[in-house]
Amino acid sequence: MKNFLNKKLYNISMYNLKFYNSRSKSNDPFVHDPNIPINMYTCGPTVYDRAHLGNLKTFLWSDFVVSYLQAIGYKTNHIMNITDIDDKIINRLPEQTYESLIEYTSFYTNKFLEDIHKLGVKNYTSENIHKVTDNMESMENIAIELIEKGNAYETPDGSVYFDSSKVLNNPFYVDCDTDGYENGRNIIRAEGVRSDKDFVLWKVKADRKLSFSFKNKKNFFPGWHLECSAIVENKLNKLHIALGGFDLKSQHHMCSICQSEAFKPNQIYGDYWIHFGFLNFGGDKMSKSIGNVLRLDDITHNYKLLRMYFLSKSYKNTFDYSDDEIELMKKDFTNLHMLYNKLSNKFYRTHKNEKLNYSGDVQIYNNILEIISDNFNTKDALNEIVKYVDKFMKVYLTDEKAQEIKNELDRVNNLFNIMDNDLLFIDEKTMDFINQREELRKLKQFEQTDAMREELKKTFIFEDENTGFTLVKKF
Ligand SMILES: [Zn+2]
Repeated sequence: MKNFLNKKLYNISMYNLKFYNSRSKSNDPFVHDPNIPINMYTCGPTVYDRAHLGNLKTFLWSDFVVSYLQAIGYKTNHIMNITDIDDKIINRLPEQTYESLIEYTSFYTNKFLEDIHKLGVKNYTSENIHKVTDNMESMENIAIELIEKGNAYETPDGSVYFDSSKVLNNPFYVDCDTDGYENGRNIIRAEGVRSDKDFVLWKVKADRKLSFSFKNKKNFFPGWHLECSAIVENKLNKLHIALGGFDLKSQHHMCSICQSEAFKPNQIYGDYWIHFGFLNFGGDKMSKSIGNVLRLDDITHNYKLLRMYFLSKSYKNTFDYSDDEIELMKKDFTNLHMLYNKLSNKFYRTHKNEKLNYSGDVQIYNNILEIISDNFNTKDALNEIVKYVDKFMKVYLTDEKAQEIKNELDRVNNLFNIMDNDLLFIDEKTMDFINQREELRKLKQFEQTDAMREELKKTFIFEDENTGFTLVKKF
């Protein structure tokens, strides 16, 4: 009975969500008991510098997937790691001390959080973000247990490597592209490493002033792949959906699967895997190493418009950042705000002849959820929203209908979060001015109302129509 009620309440049965699962390499229906929260893990940023737009797009999208699953009735338990130990970080520290590391990485972690929150991301808070430095014990325990199980070994200097020959039966091993790599980043094969496919779990770094202990021995650093498996084990236990940038797929994620499934042979590490496409800039993947990066501070567009732009693209595909395309979206973005303003401030008009008032269907939200259920198709969903907005801007409305449409838009925005409250705000003085103009219009004082409209147009984008007027702050 409980199951049935839940399904009905949340309309879960209505939305047959399916999406491309990188694990099975096919479009899979999403099957999950709605009574159990979905454990989700996003591979987080390495906090050595400001994030670029390509990074931010990944986290915006991962956040959207969480919001969508919540919107169709699932409970989610979503976490992300912050990689706060990495060679790139260590090399940039002003001092090789633990305090310096924490100070440096806290600064960039906060900058990262500021950036993603400016982009309307909702599901990342201090509670669901986990620093690698807070999970060292889990990383140590997994490595020790993997050694005990025979899935890992120690080299002459004491470093610990995952033994890839023991997971040849894991189908993900074939994709585990570790050839010539060590710790995912170096290219020197250390002494005692049995195969190029073996990857490091704990590495001795004797020349480092700053290091960590492993089995009470000093001078160790944890391997990159191990951190995500350890945080998942520590905070989620079972992983249902894993999310991350496409660049992590062939190496980091395959190594994570192999080591986690060696650690817990009877449990699938991530039933569903979602990978987000790259953001190109000038034809190449936006990357700090190429130097073609744009950061949020470099962008002059409204950030919610930028969010709408990212959500108008397929999460999976790589695309080129385009200012022109964002400019083209400005009209739809403006109209959405104008309609919302019109509805919430009662700037619409009701026709005396009842038959001329809009009496049709106002359902937007459920249709939008339905469209998105096909591989997170936000592109078509946004196109549909634009069509609704265009339609409702042109009709006479009763208070009742206006309220119904506004409620639908609120629900849509609760999911998409593309409306900017600052643009919607109208101060009291302006509101008085607008009301005064409406009174004069009723008295057919058109010369005055025209002059007042021109005055309003200095600060607002303003539209006058028979069905009402609307305005939104210029941006
Ligand atoms: Zn990861």
